[in-house]
Amino acid sequence: MKQVDCEEVKRSVHEFLHSEMQQEQQDDITAHLANCDSCEEHYDIEIVFNQVIQRSCDEAPAEELAKRVMQRLREVQDHD
Ligand SMILES: [Zn+2]
Repeated sequence: MKQVDCEEVKRSVHEFLHSEMQQEQQDDITAHLANCDSCEEHYDIEIVFNQVIQRSCDEAPAEELAKRVMQRLREVQDHD
């Protein structure tokens, strides 16, 4: 997994919110958001994910996507 910095998150957050990025890149951003206090202040993680989920419901059932994102977040946090 690639290490992303806050600047990259800032640049990527638009695509992230619109689910326009690769799954792998999305994971990198998710991992950063989960572990970065500074970004956590700027982007309320729950709000960010809610937006991701809302914007993605055309492509995937919202419930399924929510589960996937929350599980991913838990994995990321467990590895810390
Ligand atoms: Zn950050």
